Amino acid sequence: MPNTLTIDERMERWEKQYKEAHACNCPHCGYDLTTESEDMVNIVTYWGEDGRVEEHCNHCGKDFWVEEHVDRTWTTFKTEDEEEDDGF
Ligand SMILES: [Zn+2]
Repeated sequence: MPNTLTIDERMERWEKQYKEAHACNCPHCGYDLTTESEDMVNIVTYWGEDGRVEEHCNHCGKDFWVEEHVDRTWTTFKTEDEEEDDGF
């Protein structure tokens, strides 16, 4: 089956998938907890090792379980001093 999607359509689809994968939606009303940092306090752990935690939806008032998955990435840079050393 040929892929007839334009680049814009592919980007739109990718963006939708990314947002869905990185959202934390209340299973009752669909409210996305990641839009409020104070909602995230209880559900962000160091490595996602805490298992399920109970969360309260500030939008609809119902309780539900959240299981966090952590995929941490880093970017490293040389210090300014070392970059100067490279020039010599
Ligand atoms: Zn809710």
